Amino acid sequence: MAIERTLSMIKPDAVAAGNAGAILQHFEDNGLRVVACRKTQLTQAQAEAFYAVHAGRPFYGELVEFMTEGPIFAQVLEGENAVKAHRDVMGATNPKDAADGTIRKLYAESIGRNACHGSDSAENAAIEIAFFFAASDLL
Ligand code: ATP
Ligand code: MG
Repeated sequence: MAIERTLSMIKPDAVAAGNAGAILQHFEDNGLRVVACRKTQLTQAQAEAFYAVHAGRPFYGELVEFMTEGPIFAQVLEGENAVKAHRDVMGATNPKDAADGTIRKLYAESIGRNACHGSDSAENAAIEIAFFFAASDLL
């Protein structure tokens, strides 16, 4: 199996609730190594650009507002099949559908305020990693 990297975010709801440390531990406990990590607050322009694929969807404005309401953690995670492995650890987008033990089941409030983000392909992971980090940040 291939060693991959993926871009992971702990969203403002989970950071504000004090769950960032527990969520990072959850990634490490599931074999995902933290290659880079930073806390930052997205501007409106950054949130719009990050989620540009959803522009025009009915929830886009709400999503951008939510993602800018407070600080996030962005991290690069590495491991075997990291893109899928990380999405499996996160659980379904809607916490109502998320499996027991997943981050969204444990920490998300709703489909909108759902605790974490993960890249959905290796191609998008490369783009999203470059959104937050320089090559020299990846250790
Ligand atoms: P993410 O991209 O954040 O990892 P995802 O890939 O599971 O989540 P997407 O379909 O890419 O889900 O949606 C991006 C984000 O938009 C979701 O995580 C959620 O915060 C928000 N979102 C998606 N669908 C809805 C909806 N129906 N109502 C409100 N917010 C939504
Ligand atoms: Mg997505």
